[in-house]
Amino acid sequence: MALDDLYREVILDHYQHPRNRGRLEPSDVSVEGANPLCGDELAFFLRLRDGRVQDVRFDGRGCSISQASASMMTDAIKGKTLDEVRALVAQFKGMMRGQEPSSDLGDLVALQGVRKFPVRIKCATLAWVALEQGLDEHAAGRPASTATTETEP
Ligand code: ZN
Repeated sequence: MALDDLYREVILDHYQHPRNRGRLEPSDVSVEGANPLCGDELAFFLRLRDGRVQDVRFDGRGCSISQASASMMTDAIKGKTLDEVRALVAQFKGMMRGQEPSSDLGDLVALQGVRKFPVRIKCATLAWVALEQGLDEHAAGRPASTATTETEP
């Protein structure tokens, strides 16, 4: 199987069987992103614990690339520390700009093929730009809209 076909299979698999789809309420980070050029919409919900992404869900609609990228991203960030997540965001955005990733990005490399279609790059990066914005807002102390005063058992 040619590499392009393999990548296409990975993207279609995530599009047709999205991982971590849904919502988390309450969540520590909730953020939405849109790519009007293509009609893509995404929303992310993260629950943090001890500086790590304990759980993550996404919801949205749009083209296969935007939804597959979101699905892959949720898989990739679950369990990671916020520093690791930010490093991954930088790696992914760098890859979409044509840089060689310095660490193993797993399934995410399937989205490299999108670079051949510049108009679709925003579809692939939408999830990552939104995630970064959500983390920035969280770091700035903005409470998530769904935050509650739930106490730990
Ligand atoms: Zn799109």
